Amino acid sequence: MSAPVIFSGIQPTGRKHLGNYIGAIRQYVEGQDRGEPAIFCIVDLHAISVAFDPAELRERLYDTTAVLLAAGLDPERCILFRQSDVREHTELTWLLSAVTAHGDLNRMHQFKDKSAKQRELVSAALFFYPVLQAADVLAYRATEVPVGEDQRQHVELMREIARRFNERFGETLVEPEHRIPDLGARIMDLQEPQRKMSTTGATEAGTLYVLDEPAVIRKKLGSAVTDSGREVVRGEEKPGVANLIDVLAVARGADPAAIEREFEGAGYGDFKAAVAEGVAEMLTPVRERYAELRPDQAALEEALAAGAEKARAIAAPTLAEVRERMGVGTPN
Ligand code: ATP
Ligand code: MG
Repeated sequence: MSAPVIFSGIQPTGRKHLGNYIGAIRQYVEGQDRGEPAIFCIVDLHAISVAFDPAELRERLYDTTAVLLAAGLDPERCILFRQSDVREHTELTWLLSAVTAHGDLNRMHQFKDKSAKQRELVSAALFFYPVLQAADVLAYRATEVPVGEDQRQHVELMREIARRFNERFGETLVEPEHRIPDLGARIMDLQEPQRKMSTTGATEAGTLYVLDEPAVIRKKLGSAVTDSGREVVRGEEKPGVANLIDVLAVARGADPAAIEREFEGAGYGDFKAAVAEGVAEMLTPVRERYAELRPDQAALEEALAAGAEKARAIAAPTLAEVRERMGVGTPN
């Protein structure tokens, strides 16, 4: 089998949290030596689909870049860039919208969830979000897309878009496979374990940030919602405890069943303390490295610019072919 072309995007909104780290960033780091190439994109154009502040968007973009580098992405071993620097993404979005069914976009869970939360404006960008996401991936003819569970439906849709395009205009685009981790694909909010930990519309106390200090990690995990029982076991009726078991299993690189055995007969207090310790150990090196990297904005900008150049070299030929196939623009 040939090496995968890996692509994934992450939004520069808010602060990146434990769900992003476990569901996505950890997979990026693992993928960077497997992918040929592995491409990671900070998707500022997706971030403008909900209310935002321009100056803050720039700051958050640097924050996210520094978090990714601190977590172990190496611009020498992967392509790391800012979405808006490669204009092929937006052009391809429009072209792909010609083979995207309005009805499919209407069915997207993310649109339903996020549009319900908007106070002032449900933007057309929020509705179009999955088409831009399809363009992100299809422009690189990626074969593998590491994401969390919540993005399963969007990856299905981009496969459908690629299929429709190929049927209509001839074999051009590649249908990508999602790569969703077995463990930690859906980290739940610590205060409301029925819903996913999220950057937008989450509770401060229920969201554990990658850059939280150990004392904050202890506090948030100490007050995490569990249930009235005392057994440290996974179960449908124990979403809070099950979530913490998964988190500790990931942090330790252990099996969830081994965690259950270890805490048989122990109370929730001891268990939560162990989760806090495991998470703090996993995140402390990232936070320390972040503190070194974040102040040098010029260096971050330089890394992103170099990444954009490499990305463009891959996306531009795809766009030329798509335009040609669709009969758009000056003929070749
Ligand atoms: P928003 O709520 O604004 O959509 P987000 O927290 O989902 O923000 P994104 O940048 O949209 O962050 O997602 C980046 C990656 O993190 C995606 O691959 C997504 O599937 C993954 N991810 C997001 N939340 C979780 C979670 N709770 N558990 C596991 N993976 C997650
Ligand atoms: Mg998201």
